[in-house]
Amino acid sequence: QNSLSGQLTDLHEQAANLYHHILKNTQAGQQALQYLHERGMTDEIIDQFGIGFAPEQRLLYPFFEEKKVEYQLLRQTGMFAEDQSGKLHDRFSGRVMFPIKNQNSKVIAFSGRLLSTENTDMPKYLNSPETEIFNKRRTLFNFDVARKSVRQSQRLILFEGFMDVIAATRAGVTCGVASMGTSLTEEQISMMERVTSAVDVCYDGDDAGQNATNRALSLISEQSSKIKLGVVSMPAGIDPDEYVQEYGEDKLAEWLDNAKQTPVAFQMTFLKRNLNVDNEVDQLSYLHSILKVIANVPDSLEQDVYLNQLVQQFNLDKQTLQGQLQEVRRQVK
Ligand code: ATP
Ligand code: MN
Ligand code: MN
Ligand code: MN
Repeated sequence: QNSLSGQLTDLHEQAANLYHHILKNTQAGQQALQYLHERGMTDEIIDQFGIGFAPEQRLLYPFFEEKKVEYQLLRQTGMFAEDQSGKLHDRFSGRVMFPIKNQNSKVIAFSGRLLSTENTDMPKYLNSPETEIFNKRRTLFNFDVARKSVRQSQRLILFEGFMDVIAATRAGVTCGVASMGTSLTEEQISMMERVTSAVDVCYDGDDAGQNATNRALSLISEQSSKIKLGVVSMPAGIDPDEYVQEYGEDKLAEWLDNAKQTPVAFQMTFLKRNLNVDNEVDQLSYLHSILKVIANVPDSLEQDVYLNQLVQQFNLDKQTLQGQLQEVRRQVK
């Protein structure tokens, strides 16, 4: 393949193989391999995702130089940083390397994780820069695999991080994807819409994750009327990868099936997060805001489910609540 993109993906494939070899078969990769094993990854998973290691010393530059790859081409891979004199240096050093693939399973970029985030102000994850072949906005980690498994799973699960996608895979759930450490883009939503009619958001169980869930839900529902949304909330403070570490792989698979909520059920918890609903002022403001959410639910049976929950939870009169819901609906019209 002689097109620029073809050449660039070819160099990425070669780099990925080299990083993988360093991790699996060399002294320089031992510490990283141990790190991955300690995080519960088997060799099978490491091979499946093509995970590798970029050592501290120079690696890619001498490797490609020996193969007489042109300087101008190397510059365009994004795998190097250029100094003032124009000299190229390996961008990734001392990092566990996750290949990022396009829809045809070709490596187009990398994300590298530090073995330890202590005593450093370097970012935990470092991604390739945008290149001719890598557009962050149009990329979802594991999309090439997930789009095939979606027919069986009938759902696509959106995770926050690569490690969560990998944890789900270990649990036998291969329909997971993750955006590139940024907020979800229009292009990524379109990609998902093309392959599935059901997306479940499963972000981390911390404040950042809950806020991001709320954002993802509104981005997706505003852009796509075709996608049926769900939410899988993780227990407080942990992400899917940590869940596997704590409870085992089978339990994550169960959790992903059983902890699924509707977006409104998620909102019923989310809208309370900064309120003290034992206090009447907060309680009323919560009720007003959740009624606005419920008023948008098209299915009246579903609406009734939530109203009953509110009746129970706050010891309210159902007819009053229904009346108020009518009122809210009139106001939004
Ligand atoms: P790990 O389990 O390895 O610590 P994580 O996936 O739990 O990773 P989070 O801190 O939850 O990491 O962040 C979620 C995602 O955000 C990561 O997978 C990564 O894509 C991105 N990310 C996190 N920190 C950074 C960073 N410093 N720079 C760039 N991207 C980052
Ligand atoms: Mn997080
Ligand atoms: Mn996380
Ligand atoms: Mn994690």
